[in-house]
Amino acid sequence: TQQREIIRGGFDHVEQQTCVRFKELGMNEISYGEDHLLITRESTGCHSFVGHVGLQAQQLNLQDYCILTFGTIVHEIIHALGLWHEQQRADRDQHIRVRNGNLRNSGQFVKEKTVSLGVPYDVGSVMHYNSYAFTRNFKITMETLDPLEQNSLGQRTGMSFLDAKIINLAY
Ligand SMILES: [Zn+2]
Repeated sequence: TQQREIIRGGFDHVEQQTCVRFKELGMNEISYGEDHLLITRESTGCHSFVGHVGLQAQQLNLQDYCILTFGTIVHEIIHALGLWHEQQRADRDQHIRVRNGNLRNSGQFVKEKTVSLGVPYDVGSVMHYNSYAFTRNFKITMETLDPLEQNSLGQRTGMSFLDAKIINLAY
């Protein structure tokens, strides 16, 4: 019950800043077969599909530790709304340099064919990884071209203004 309350807080946060509205389904409604998010707590970490993938029950997994960080819940919800990681934006090379030599896994750093809707790249996005994400040697894996932006990477407090803006434009 406590965990459900915390997760609801993440959905409330997205609703408060965007035009998106969520509805919690009861067991009866699920059986009608409409596509929906299914929030699970499997021991596979914190992950979500990006956007509507057309599974009847689209998994959004929050292992117990995931809900200890409010911004992580919000991050996974925003994946489900269709946003990739900020560092996967098509225009990221104009803002950050990925240090491939320091990466142990580059999967989350692959550029995607993202649509920005005119919203600028945001080092303060809740969808941006931190400077040391997936490091294999304790050295930074992403360097901001503007050194003053380096410490902004990876915040997990909640949505940034631009996170909300792109969702509002999209929806
Ligand atoms: Zn993510």
